[in-house]
Amino acid sequence: MTIRDIMKYIESEYKVINQTPCEVCGGEYLTEDLDITLVDGVPFDVCDCVCASCGYIKSFMFTAPFVEEDNGLEIIKRMN
Ligand SMILES: [Zn+2]
Repeated sequence: MTIRDIMKYIESEYKVINQTPCEVCGGEYLTEDLDITLVDGVPFDVCDCVCASCGYIKSFMFTAPFVEEDNGLEIIKRMN
């Protein structure tokens, strides 16, 4: 997977977050933090988001296949 693929992947995650309305007030989520975690050995990309309108906090989880690449995690950290 190339850097471009990883970028595309992250972009699609942001798209999902942007298209998801707040569970409480229907507002927009803003991404606060992005982290990688392992669940049963599978890498997940965890986005902590906060509602721009009411402050409700929600975590989005995505599988992160690019983390298995040598530099995937480093690239993500640099992008932040
Ligand atoms: Zn809200």
